[in-house]
Amino acid sequence: MKIKDILAAGRPSVSFEVFPPKKDAPFGPVKEAVARLARERPSFMSVTYGASGNAQANTVEMAAFVQECGVPALAHLTCVAASRDSIAEEVKALRAAGIENVLCLRGDLPKDAAEPPPGCFEHAADLVRALKPSQFCLGGACYPECHPECEHMEDDIGWLKEKVDAGLDFVTTQMFFDNNIFYRYLSKLRDRGVTVPVIAGIMPVTNGRQIARICKISGTYLPSRFKAIVDRYGDRPDAMLDAGVAYATEQIIDLFANGINAVHVYTMNKPEVAERIMSNLRSILSADDC
Ligand code: FAD
Repeated sequence: MKIKDILAAGRPSVSFEVFPPKKDAPFGPVKEAVARLARERPSFMSVTYGASGNAQANTVEMAAFVQECGVPALAHLTCVAASRDSIAEEVKALRAAGIENVLCLRGDLPKDAAEPPPGCFEHAADLVRALKPSQFCLGGACYPECHPECEHMEDDIGWLKEKVDAGLDFVTTQMFFDNNIFYRYLSKLRDRGVTVPVIAGIMPVTNGRQIARICKISGTYLPSRFKAIVDRYGDRPDAMLDAGVAYATEQIIDLFANGINAVHVYTMNKPEVAERIMSNLRSILSADDC
């Protein structure tokens, strides 16, 4: 099933994100986590590509397994330093596995990597143009607090508009912890003529110390309410799990209440987190007016 059709239904939907095993690591534990996540009946599950050292070749296999579990899969694909031929191979593999949805990303070169040879894809928009004729439903990334490499939000939105116009069907946001930042960003996108569905990316924080570091690097704003939680419970995993699930649940309910119907939860192969969030949302997701 294509994600654009799920989004067009206009009902509140929750999707999950998983990452495939690293090179030479066993598939078993990840498949177990995915099967458990699938039982929560997310609207779709996305599978990351090459992020945090996971093996690129495993993305297609994991995405195929997601679909075996009865959930539409969204396969991430990065293009930085990829050749046209290698992307064509990826497309063949995705097609053969019956994947209909692709998240088109630039990705990041490792710090010590050599400059990609000329002719490689420079931006995610180049990948969108390459994949457009292939009939996939295409998504892309966007940044409510501006991409860290871009100095001005207005420029970042301009490049996003170009990427969307190249053929995206939807975009998914980077995590944010203050919904007002998302609402302001969405309004700016609409003013600039970006009209595709915007899926709100929510990160349930279960490791307080780690997230404080990530936010510092990525420039993600930590509201004082959230900082207080991390300061108080960051060193106590059980307490941080309770607090992180509660915070993410509150964000999601506020988004739904304000008419944002599509939420993507960065579940990170942690079914227990997804189960607790979905349990908190049970009656909200089954309400008659949804
Ligand atoms: P782009 O859209 O190409 O933008 C990158 C930068 O270039 C931005 O600063 C933009 O403003 C600028 N730009 C764009 N076009 C132009 C232009 N024509 N001229 C000048 N500047 C331009 N990474 C992974 O490795 N694997 C994953 O699975 C993964 N999944 C992700 C999922 C989501 C929802 C998000 C938000 C990010 C994900 N990432 C992943 C991280 C992503 O790869 C990085 O954030 C990367 O730095 C940018 O990728 P992009 O696709 O947004 O790039």
